Amino acid sequence: VGWWENASPAAKDPITGVTEAFLADTNPHKINLGVGAYRDDEGKPIVLQCVRNAEAKIAGCEFLEANATEMASSLVEESVKLAYGEHARVLKEGRLAGLQALSGTGACRLFAELQRRFYPELPIYLPRPTWSNHHNVWRDAQVPQRTFQYYHPVSKGLNFAALVDDVKNAPDGSVFLLHPCAHNPTGVDPTEEQWRDISYLFKVKNHFPFFDMAYQGFASGDLDMDAQAIRIFLEDGHLIGCAQSFAKNMGLYGHRVGCVSVLCADAKQAVVVKSQMQQIARAMYGSPPVHGLLLVSTILSDPQTKSLWVKEVKVMANRIKRMRTALRENLEKLGSPLNWEHITNQVGMFCFSGLTPDHVDRLAREFHVYMTRDGRISMAGVTTSNVSYLADAIHEVTK
Ligand code: PLP
Repeated sequence: VGWWENASPAAKDPITGVTEAFLADTNPHKINLGVGAYRDDEGKPIVLQCVRNAEAKIAGCEFLEANATEMASSLVEESVKLAYGEHARVLKEGRLAGLQALSGTGACRLFAELQRRFYPELPIYLPRPTWSNHHNVWRDAQVPQRTFQYYHPVSKGLNFAALVDDVKNAPDGSVFLLHPCAHNPTGVDPTEEQWRDISYLFKVKNHFPFFDMAYQGFASGDLDMDAQAIRIFLEDGHLIGCAQSFAKNMGLYGHRVGCVSVLCADAKQAVVVKSQMQQIARAMYGSPPVHGLLLVSTILSDPQTKSLWVKEVKVMANRIKRMRTALRENLEKLGSPLNWEHITNQVGMFCFSGLTPDHVDRLAREFHVYMTRDGRISMAGVTTSNVSYLADAIHEVTK
């Protein structure tokens, strides 16, 4: 037998498939609502002004190895402030083991590897549904998986009672993945009150929360507000894991800049855990690329550039909120018999529309509108000029 002969094609990523179908369509009205990447009101990808300023600042700077190490610590220092709060006591106590990671995916993978290394028997509890790649990441790290109930298809909101049941029924000391804001794919987040209840239950059950924060700023437009879940857990004295990505909120997709952190019991433990994560990273990819690191640490450590970034995050979040309102209003104006309140109730990059796989197929075939078959709409693909066409199309397939 020859090499690789028993290999068969791997399943296509659901989102890659949508992009391919969109690209192959030559209709001028086509709309891509698949990929979760921000677009401006012209439907174009953007480079944030804070990133342009940072580019100018670092132009010609020497990529010295020593320099990169220093910048990486500054990136981690600034990232954890965003997650845990600028003045969080745990920062001063040195209890955070943090490492630059290959964007959010790499941060998840690093944590999954750490989990397997120290708790090989413990499964990861993932929300149902969740970002599809979570399943791949923990599968490849050979961590067993369970799910917990999250979404309520009828209300198109949170099934809080079922979530509470599952949290209670999991064995004490389980590891849960939580989306702290802008849940992907549903756009459904717990309220502050519900987060407090979840945090309390986790305390009682001694569960470990791992927060995957890929969209900080995209839910409310405010970075601190979007981290409120983490802050609540912090207040309640939990140990926490956290993945952060700058792909969406800085528009740095391909640069792959992120951070993984583990809040430990004390500074000594943090040193140990960090050394373990460093060893894992070293064997997986050596070290992360340095250009994006320079961009992010420049933005976060310069007050002026940082405040520009904060404003630009708000602009992106607000545009998405406006498109939610516009889409809902257009559907209601058309006299749609369905309830579309969830479009504006849900938050972040996505709307879990409730469209069925049949609706999605018809939208693609008859209207050149592309999204994943679970009915997830990337609101970033909606613009002032295509929103009424989109509403018409959705109305046609659902009336
Ligand atoms: N986590 C969630 C929930 C996501 O939706 C994404 C991106 O789609 C990621 C993590 C990882 O993104 P990236 O690796 O591009 O930072």
